[in-house]
This record gives sequence, structure tokens and C-alpha cells, in this order.
Amino acid sequence: MLAAYAVQVEQSRGRRFPEPSHPYRNDFQRDRDRIIHARAFRRLEDKTQVFTRRYSDHFRNRLTHTIEVAQITRTVASALGLNVDLAEALALVHDLGHPPFGHAGEKALDAAVRPHGLSFDHNLHALRIVEDFEQRYAAFRGLNLTFEVREGIIKHSRDYDAAEHPELAEYLLDQRPPLEAQLIDLTDEIGYNTADLDDGYEAHLLTLEQVRAGVPIFERFFREVAQTYPKAPDKLQFNEALKGVFNRLAGDLITNTQVVLKQFGIETLSDIRLYKERLAAFSPEAEADRKQIKSFLYENLYYSPSLAGEKDDAERIVTALFNCWMENPSALPHYYQEKAAQGSLPRVVCDYIAGMTDHFIIEQYEKHCVGKKSSQE
Ligand code: MG
Repeated sequence: MLAAYAVQVEQSRGRRFPEPSHPYRNDFQRDRDRIIHARAFRRLEDKTQVFTRRYSDHFRNRLTHTIEVAQITRTVASALGLNVDLAEALALVHDLGHPPFGHAGEKALDAAVRPHGLSFDHNLHALRIVEDFEQRYAAFRGLNLTFEVREGIIKHSRDYDAAEHPELAEYLLDQRPPLEAQLIDLTDEIGYNTADLDDGYEAHLLTLEQVRAGVPIFERFFREVAQTYPKAPDKLQFNEALKGVFNRLAGDLITNTQVVLKQFGIETLSDIRLYKERLAAFSPEAEADRKQIKSFLYENLYYSPSLAGEKDDAERIVTALFNCWMENPSALPHYYQEKAAQGSLPRVVCDYIAGMTDHFIIEQYEKHCVGKKSSQE
């Protein structure tokens, strides 16, 4: 039973190109499956989340992170009576537009296109992937996803200004997205905050003592675990404490969102869309815990000297490859040369690089940039 404020698939605004319905799957289930079958989805396997392959095969990459976010999202959406199919599709697509090399790659790509009057935004890139770059169907370009999935792709994590983005006018920019989309930014945070503590500890970049001292919510659960399982190895005590943190954040997101909906008398989807703020939220206490984990990770992991070399490499490779193709567009594959001839060369080079895996961009960099002098390097 869906809540009255959930998105009903029967009331979807539909696809750009109408299609006959499927005998076994509704439209949001089909969208979820189209995302899973997309080439860009498979490439997430070789895109850095925080750690490159050099560290360990056990650590999260962008694909396994995405699967974890989908798991959390299903639980939270279901507990709130939301449309789980839509929420799951949005979780699976939420990182589709990320370039290679994680955050460092995204920053470098944005910096490279700025002098050309452009910017790089992974949500807008994801929208271009599903609207244009994926080519699987004879009748249309892209995946022909429903309105609600396309809207969630751009609106799940931030608001876009209608004056700045006239091309997004159809996405009701003056309204909040449905709760199914609002959730994703928060389930994403639950996913990576706990996973990065886990991988950071396994990588020996974070010690148990450091996490206990720097993350009070972890320490609270750790004390309980150490009493219940005093003889368990450190790693298992760590896992149990982290499980406590994970469940606390996910549980709080569910119960606090219910409280907020009640408090503001939210009953229908239109109440959610027209409310002045987003309504999916942690309680103030859990929000403080979330912030503490995040700043701990920034201070002790993301800016750790051990990862600095990889970030420098990422920036150098992205910048050099972009400049190589800007100076010598004839070195681009024929398909992209033609696209550039019809549009903007910096945009085409940016989109091409953004779609690459870590492995492929290194290969392209070695082929086009190493040993060749680029005037902008
Ligand atoms: Mg993510």
C-alpha cells in the first residue's frame, strides 16, 4: 500500500515517446531495468569512488556504492510507504554522470571547461546520458525514461534556478521533487559515510582509536559492542559498531521524515511538491552525527597525504587529455569529430571524457598526451 504522498505510477507524466505498456513490469520498473542495462551503468564498475583499484579489490567502486545506496533506499522508501520502484531507479541512476577519478576528476573537468564558458555538473551530465548518449533503441535516442525519473536525476541533490537553466524548464523547477527523489541525497550519504569509514579502516588509513575519538556516534555503539563481544577481533567489533551507526542513520531518516510530514500536515504528493522546503530529513541529533562523520572523513581520509598522489594524477590526466583534444580535434574518434562539427568542441570533449572509466582515460592519456608536448601543460 502506497502512502497518499507517494508517486503513483499510473499518474506518471509519461515518456517523451509514448510506448505500449509491458505485460509484467510497470513503467518505473522498466526505467529501473533500462538503467541497469545501460552502458554507462556498467562503466561505473571502473570509476573511482574514493579508492582506486591500486588499494584493494575489496573496496567500493562507483558501481558497488550505487548498489549499496539502492539497498538503503529500498528499505527507507518502503518504510515510508513511497514508490519503491521509482526510488530504486533513482538510486541506481544517481551517480551515472560521474566522470573518472571521483571528486578530483570532476573538479579537474569543471576547471578545464570553465575558460570556454561552460561548466561540468554530474546531474546534468547524467540527464544527457539518458536522453541522448545511450543508444539502444531503434525508435529514439536515449532511454526514453519517464518524466519522474528524469526529474529525479536532476533534482535529487540540488535545486536549479529556472533563469539560469531555461533548458530544464519542463522539470517544475519552482517545485520540490517527490520524496522518492528527496531521499536519495540522504541515503547516498548514509551509504558513503559508513562505507568510507569501513574502507578507510581496512586501508589502514584510519585506526580504530582515531575513529572512536573522532566520531562520537561510532564510539557510542563501539562501547556497547565491546561489552557484548569483548573477545571479538577488532575488525568484527568495528563492523558491529558501524552497523549500529548505519541502522541509526537509516532508522532516523525514516522516523524523522514521518514526524516532519505529520508536523506540517503533509498528506498528498502535491503538498510535498508545493512545500517551501524539502521534507525528507534527519532529526537535528542525527544531522549532527552525519556532519561529524563527514568532517572526520574530510580531515582524516579524503585529504589524507596517502591519497594526494592519486588526486594529482587525476587532475593532470583529465586536464592534459582535454587540452590535447582541444588543440588537435582530428585525434578524436570520428564520431566525436562529427558531433563537435555540429556543436561545441569543448562540450563534446568534456562529455567524452566524463563518460570514461579510470582505466580507459589512462589509456587515452598515454596514447594522446604522453611524449607529446601540449602548450597548455
Ligand atoms: Mg553517490
